[in-house]
Amino acid sequence: MSDQDYPVELTAPDIEPYREGNTGVEFVTTYDSGAPGPHVMINAVTHGNEICGAIALDTLFKAGLRPERGKLSLGFVNHMAYARFDPADPGASRFVDEDFNRVWVEDRLDGPEDTAELRRARELRPIFDSVDLLLDIHSMGTYSKALMINNGLEKERAFVREVNFPAYIMCGPGHVVGKRLIEYTPFNDTANNKVALLVECGQHWAAATGTAALDTALHFLRAAETVSSAFIDAHLSEAARTPPKAVMWDVTDGITSATDDFRFVEPYIGMEVIAKAGTVIAHDGGAEIVTPYDDCLLMMPNHRPGANVRKLRLCRRSA
Ligand SMILES: [Zn+2]
Repeated sequence: MSDQDYPVELTAPDIEPYREGNTGVEFVTTYDSGAPGPHVMINAVTHGNEICGAIALDTLFKAGLRPERGKLSLGFVNHMAYARFDPADPGASRFVDEDFNRVWVEDRLDGPEDTAELRRARELRPIFDSVDLLLDIHSMGTYSKALMINNGLEKERAFVREVNFPAYIMCGPGHVVGKRLIEYTPFNDTANNKVALLVECGQHWAAATGTAALDTALHFLRAAETVSSAFIDAHLSEAARTPPKAVMWDVTDGITSATDDFRFVEPYIGMEVIAKAGTVIAHDGGAEIVTPYDDCLLMMPNHRPGANVRKLRLCRRSA
């Protein structure tokens, strides 16, 4: 299936009212409770085609969300790409010049290169440098169940257990080129207590994905002890009020296509668990791709064609 095959059930909200903000950085608003506590931040539209986060933040703004302790920031990250979102070609607005979620490498941030995303990253960097707990809201290309991603550090595992939403917690990198925001050094550092989490809320434009984005934001805020439980209870969806205990998985492998003739043996959507080691899951040119161990979970299969494309991550249930 290509992007065109997925109906656009969500409506991208107008975020222009949030452009001015109050931080000196466009599309970032910070509320200070005046009481001690962490600086908590929620990001939307790191990818401009992933509109569920904008829906969640728009809802929180309109509901009058304020922190009870510490500081709370709400940011629309790649607003430049989001401004180009077109329901008639919904996949086209992922970024302007390059993937915002690959630029978080000091050499590039400090270097001479100039792209729309690097300029925006340099604007946002002092804010991220002051953030203690970050939730970066994303969505996916298939109808996969929602999942939470972290680097697998102990500090992250401890906090994400408290968030306990959505029901899948995926730990580890899975061989990405460049660095995602959650891998930016101050977060991916065992010497401090900062935690950055990335949630994939479901298919980019499915109605349920907007609900999952708001529910995840609220469970994150609950775990961060930032806002009142009355606010959270008033805005959680019915199904997310008492979630089951989330299951933790370790990302063990990333699979990248070696040829432009990479074919999955089934139209996987993600989160399928393959019982037997050695099961063929894809063909890449003449090579067979097999599961390396029993009960292997297939995370975020990518059905876009081409060589040198990240096709899949493999995960094993965490002990
Ligand atoms: Zn994304």
